Formats: sequence, C-alpha cells, structure tokens
Amino acid sequence: MSETIFALASGPGRAGVAVIRVSGPQSWAGLQALSGRADFIPRKAALVDLKNEDSRETLDRALVLPFKAPASYTGEDVVEYHLHGGRAVVDAVLAALAGLDGHRMAEPGEFTRRAFENGKMDLTEAEAVADLIDAETQAQRLQALLQMGGVLMNLYEGWADRLKRALAHLEAEIEFPDEDLPQEIAPEITADLSAISQEMSEHLNDNRRGERLRDGIHVAVIGAPNVGKSSLVNVLAQRDVAIISEMAGTTRDVIEVHLDLGGYPVILADTAGLRPDQIGAEGQEGIESEGIRRALLRAKTADITLLVFDANAPEVDAHTLALIDERAVLLENKTDKDGAKAQIEAALPISVETGEGLDALLGLLQEKIEGLIGRREAPALTRRRHRGCIEEAREALVRAQTAALPELMAEDVRLAVRALGRITGRVDVEDLLDVIFRDFCIGK
Ligand code: GDP
Repeated sequence: MSETIFALASGPGRAGVAVIRVSGPQSWAGLQALSGRADFIPRKAALVDLKNEDSRETLDRALVLPFKAPASYTGEDVVEYHLHGGRAVVDAVLAALAGLDGHRMAEPGEFTRRAFENGKMDLTEAEAVADLIDAETQAQRLQALLQMGGVLMNLYEGWADRLKRALAHLEAEIEFPDEDLPQEIAPEITADLSAISQEMSEHLNDNRRGERLRDGIHVAVIGAPNVGKSSLVNVLAQRDVAIISEMAGTTRDVIEVHLDLGGYPVILADTAGLRPDQIGAEGQEGIESEGIRRALLRAKTADITLLVFDANAPEVDAHTLALIDERAVLLENKTDKDGAKAQIEAALPISVETGEGLDALLGLLQEKIEGLIGRREAPALTRRRHRGCIEEAREALVRAQTAALPELMAEDVRLAVRALGRITGRVDVEDLLDVIFRDFCIGK
C-alpha cells in the first residue's frame, strides 16, 4: 500500500490562509484522528477543530476539504486543510500529521507525480503544471494553461495513434500476406507516414516560439562604449541595476534585467562596450577583454539585438554596424545633444536622457517579439525535451518511407511511436494488438 504524503501547498511564510495537502490511503483516517469526526462527504468543505491526537491540544479551527479516489488531483484519497496562515499554526499541523500512521512529508513534485502515475495526466500536462506555477507573464500563463488542458498531449498522442494504425496495417501485411486485405496497402501507408512527418516538421520549425515564451526572449543591448547602453537598460527596467558612468568601458560583465513587455517575458542584457580590436591588447586587463568577448557572444545568441549608436559620434561605429542582421533593432541615442545628427537611415532616434523615442522603441520591440512568438493557431512546442523526441520520431519516419522491406518500415515506425511515447510518458506499443484486432476482421 502506498504511503500517505503531506506538504504545505501554499507559499511559505505568513499569510491569511495556508493550505496543507494530504494524499494517500490514510488521509481520511488522519482527518478523523485530528478532527474527532467521521462524517465527511467528498468535495464538501467542513469546519473542524483540529486537535493533536495525543495531547488533545487544539491546533487550529480549520476548513477541510476531502476528496475520494479517483476523483482528486492525485487520483488518491486526498484531504486539504485550509488553515490560518501563521507559521506556528502550519508548523503545529505539519508536526501532528507527521505523527499519524503511515504519513510522511512529500518529496518535491510528488503529488503531481502520483497524478501522472494514476493516469490523471500525461507528462506534458504535468510539466504544464510546473510551467503555470512558474509563469511570470500573461502570455506564459496562457501557454501553460493550454498545455495543461492537453493540447500537446492530444497532438502527440494523435500522431502516435495514427502511427500505430499504420503499424497495424504493416504488421498485417507481414503476418498475413494472403488475407483478404485491401490491395496495395503499402503506398497508403507511405503516404500516411509522409503526412505525419510533414506535420512534425511544421511543428518543429515554429521558430522556437513556445520554448522562447517559456524561457524568456533574450534581447541584447550592443554598442560601442559610452553610447548609453546601461542608461537605456536602466530606463527600460525603471530601476537602478546597471552601472552608469562617464568612463568608457565600465560595464565589464553582462547584466540581465527581466521585463514583462505586453505579457511577454524579456531578458534584457546590458553588455560591455564593443571594442573587439582591444581584446587582449596591451594595457587591457583580462577582465575587460572577457567582457567584450561575452558581449559578442550575446550578440550572436540573442533573439533580438538592440544596436545602439551615438548620434554625436564623429563616425558610425563599424563594429556595431557589422552586427546588423534580421534580429537587429537600430537605435541612435543622445538626440538631445547639440550637434546630434541622424547618420543611419534605418535607426530609430532616441534620447535616454529626455525619454524621446522610448515608447516607439518599446512598441517596436513588442512588434518584433510578436513576430517571433506571437499567437498562432497551432499548439507550440515548449520544451527541448519534446523537441528531441519529435526530431527522433521524424527521422525514423523519413527512414521508414524509403525502407526496402515492410519489416524495416515497421521497425522505424515502432521507433517513432516509442519516441512520441517518451514525451507523454505513455509508451504502449503493446496495445498494437488491440488495433490489429479492431481494424481487421482476420478472425479465423
Ligand atoms: P554605455 O557605456 O553604452 O553603457 O553608456 P552609459 O549608459 O554608461 O552612458 C554613457 C554616458 O552617456 C553617461 O554619462 C550617460 O549619462 C550619457 N547618456 C546616455 N544616454 C544619453 C542621452 O540620451 N543623452 C545624453 N545627453 N547623455 C546620455
């Protein structure tokens, strides 16, 4: 029999209400022991005085909400204790629970793990629960909710089901070549496999929008020393995080600021001034060269680059110019200064000092982000783990389409089904037999 686990489900520290969740076969017996009552009805809240089982000392007057298996989050008997959210109350009730028969503290993620093991959700839905809890922006919340609702599970299991059906036809062709089956199954199967691998390719080639939304969109602020990069990061973050100084080259490391831009999570990185020619130069301490190297690396890996130029510079900085590509947003800063002049046609004129152009910049940035990951009809791939499995499945299907023998084709299709099964945690090539006997009347 499985152990009964308990844990504080709400945040730690002082609060109006704290929720302790208990799951497992002893959870209702525990409730009875602590409340002295046995008249609980599933899914009906009750107000009880909780008392320590041995000392009978009152722990709290609490609202309890019991659930009966399988109609609960974990699929087991569950009791939720809604306590007054003080540290001492929570500690006392946790201690009392620890003293009950068959009860122990839950490991991290154990409730959701049990929910998965009891078939209440697949792995993608379990991952979505974690994503929803970690969601910091509204777009992240919406993506997690969709995934928790099963859009990815349905997509992946849909593919797996179609593949299993194709596999069943193949197996039948291999096992019963003389049976009264539709003629020319093979071209049909190949067409199916081709359609599915095409759908997989489209799902994979989605510009990583789901992963980007989950992880945050990396925006790197790049430019020569003193153009106002740190100042820009500061005003965008509206707090003092980056060091601003009149001296060139003071931002030696990469400083990150997390922003919420219209619901999208942005990781804005301030970088050291670009002076690639100075890397390792005499008189340059290593740490500054390292900063420039990191800035260049950021420029390479960022989803979007903000290339900052100084509208007062005698000439346009060539190092920054060299980084222009489709990810770049060009900015000319310090337009407030006397003698400032537009030198780059495509650049947005801004002044960090006066705030000119900053709203336009945020608008431009948001547009660019929406272009990268904006809402689309198809569900988005959200994790590298899923990507790896789908790539594996797709490769197997591409191989399968040119396989010389039905046996080899079947083996690759089976590999593809297994790879998909690893995403959802439901690997059951074995129920292939069901499909065979459902779709065919071979029954001799
Ligand atoms: P970074 O080296 O590119 O990070 O540049 P900083 O942000 O440290 O700024 C360098 C200097 O330029 C500081 O003295 C800033 O106050 C100044 N600065 C930044 N933006 C502007 C601006 O829009 N107008 C003016 N006049 N000065 C600015």
